[in-house]
Amino acid sequence: MSPDVLTAEQTHSSSDVFLEEALPRLDKAAQYSKAKAETVERLKHAERFTEVGIPVKMDDGSTKVFTGFRCRYNTVRGPGKGGIRYHPDVSAAEVRALAFWMTFKCATVGIPLGGGKGGVIVDPRELSERELEGLSRGYMRGMADVLGPDIDVPAPDVYTNAKIMGWMSDEFDTIKRGRYPGVITGKPVARGGSLGRNDATGRGGFVCLRELEKRRGWNPKDITIAIQGFGNAGQHFAKLADEVGYKVVAVSDSRGGIHLDSGLDVTATIATKTDSGRLPDVGKKISNEELLELDVDVLVPAALENAVREDNAGNVRAKVLVELANGPLTKEADDILSEKDALVIPDILANAGGVTVSYFEWCQNVSGYYWDLDTVHTRLGEIMSTAFGDVYSVMESENIPMRTACYVHALNKLAEAME
Ligand code: GLU
Repeated sequence: MSPDVLTAEQTHSSSDVFLEEALPRLDKAAQYSKAKAETVERLKHAERFTEVGIPVKMDDGSTKVFTGFRCRYNTVRGPGKGGIRYHPDVSAAEVRALAFWMTFKCATVGIPLGGGKGGVIVDPRELSERELEGLSRGYMRGMADVLGPDIDVPAPDVYTNAKIMGWMSDEFDTIKRGRYPGVITGKPVARGGSLGRNDATGRGGFVCLRELEKRRGWNPKDITIAIQGFGNAGQHFAKLADEVGYKVVAVSDSRGGIHLDSGLDVTATIATKTDSGRLPDVGKKISNEELLELDVDVLVPAALENAVREDNAGNVRAKVLVELANGPLTKEADDILSEKDALVIPDILANAGGVTVSYFEWCQNVSGYYWDLDTVHTRLGEIMSTAFGDVYSVMESENIPMRTACYVHALNKLAEAME
């Protein structure tokens, strides 16, 4: 199977979420940055976009062909970096938008990596374990020519996990006839994964919350939190926030949510969700839309893109949003929330803990020297706190929304490397 390489133009279309959502944010940031116009233009194009057909032998003996994508967006600051998503709604446009975001995310936290993203159009919950392994190995066979520790380094994203990364890493080693653990991150610890990668996204968002707490003089006990999306990132964020006294009053998954004014028992909620795949039957049952509109201090969108849009942003009552998901607010929602003086800690900062520990994993793989958990936590805390402080200063000095400040900060770093 040889990869079919498409240029950025071939996969752009007028209904592209990339053009609609990502580029206006870049243009806005450019007004406050020293970046040259040609640098900004260059950042509007992906370096490479690859699409593959992945034939998988199904359990019933038939062969199904799945479509996989990988976008290596920009490698000026280092190899491409970003997860692989398995979801029925994956599209070329979405993968490119997410790869663009990864470029800015890595620059925001100052790690020496570029941006990339991958995806497969599939509902992994409909596949058996054997079929999932076939798909994951097939994806790597199709993409092996465009990936590598010094080229582009994938990781987990929506509905992919350490086991899938392990299969892909193994397949790459088989194809290349060697050991290249740095080709992919988020692997099982026994296969070269890093300690602390599993809770890194939630932990990074939590560090941002603590930084804001310092600046606002909050007492965590007085602060209520609602979390939309109770997967890996949402659960770890909830656990850490709960441990220091924040009141998590509502959480939801794709089926809906639960709300308890006095605060949920976070440990029990996570245990039930882990054991049964469902949220416990406590408090008041609410829909995902209702959760977004609760009267809480902090709202954490931790599910998929476009959760808060033009039609519901006006009903959001939280004054602080922590974007653990990628792209959970549309740009119209952003404007509405800005008018309401809500502070949005944007995705490319709030959820950058995941890629930061991926970077640590890659460093450990390349050097062959593995770190203890304390070292991972300390270094993650340092990187996230520094990035938060840098972005916060740009926000205050320019008097612009935190998202624009993030883009300005990242764009300045990218421009420095390019120019
Ligand atoms: N999928 C995660 C993200 O969107 C992690 C990417 C990575 O670790 O490379 O940031």
